Amino acid sequence: MLEVTDLQAKIVETGQQILNGVSITVREGEVHAIMGKNGSGKSTLSKVLVGHPDYEVTGGTATYKGKNLFDLEPEERSHEGLFLSFQSPIEIPGVSNVDFLRMACNARRKALGQTEFDPLEFYAHVIPKLELLKMDPTFLNRNVNQGFSGGEKKRNEILQLAVLDADMAILDEIDSGLDIDALRDVAAAVNGLNTPERSVLMVTHYRRLLDYIKPDYVHVMEAGRITTTGGMEIVDTLEEGGYAMLKTAA
Ligand code: ADP
Ligand code: MG
Ligand code: MG
Repeated sequence: MLEVTDLQAKIVETGQQILNGVSITVREGEVHAIMGKNGSGKSTLSKVLVGHPDYEVTGGTATYKGKNLFDLEPEERSHEGLFLSFQSPIEIPGVSNVDFLRMACNARRKALGQTEFDPLEFYAHVIPKLELLKMDPTFLNRNVNQGFSGGEKKRNEILQLAVLDADMAILDEIDSGLDIDALRDVAAAVNGLNTPERSVLMVTHYRRLLDYIKPDYVHVMEAGRITTTGGMEIVDTLEEGGYAMLKTAA
């Protein structure tokens, strides 16, 4: 699904190099977790993969579904089923959530050669997904993320993922700011979306999320590189003694 080799990237505005050679392979249906200290480059990696304009790739390669990822415009990556849920979802005043979701969904359907949903068809498509996320239908008619609580914004991100029917979901700290019940709902929704083909790359600081969404691999990022890869045992080590512990263990 996604093969990243020695990826290097810098911030366009300052020229500061943030990714210093990230390599990771995510196969179809696999769930990967990325952990790591604040500032280690987790969000930057997520954003570089979807083509965020603040960053420039300075080295390395990335193949997504057999194509050179960096040959694809950000919109094309989205049409190809690559999805990023943002750590801090943006508010879009003046645009209703349902219109926004339908536009995004139809853009992907069009790119895939499928017929676009009219408003009624889209309602039929979105309602079961709202139920999966335990979201009230009134959220459809509110402006995108405007006045949403932190937890509601996170649910809304997963609603987008569900509506788009993405193939590879990159979830950046979807657990941050969630209470226990919201975390369970969001995790259940992500699990509910999991098919043998769908892949997940999730960035998190906490074990809680990984108890709900079981990763096949856990990676630790440090200074713009993945320095450790393994299974849940890595998380146990981290919870016991923090990132310093991992160094002594390695
Ligand atoms: P993480 O998600 O692991 O906490 P980030 O990828 O957000 O880390 O950030 C890595 C480093 O890059 C941090 O020092 C952060 O301040 C810096 N950084 C990332 N994006 C930008 C940006 N657009 N402008 C300036 N600094 C940035
Ligand atoms: Mg962070
Ligand atoms: Mg981050």
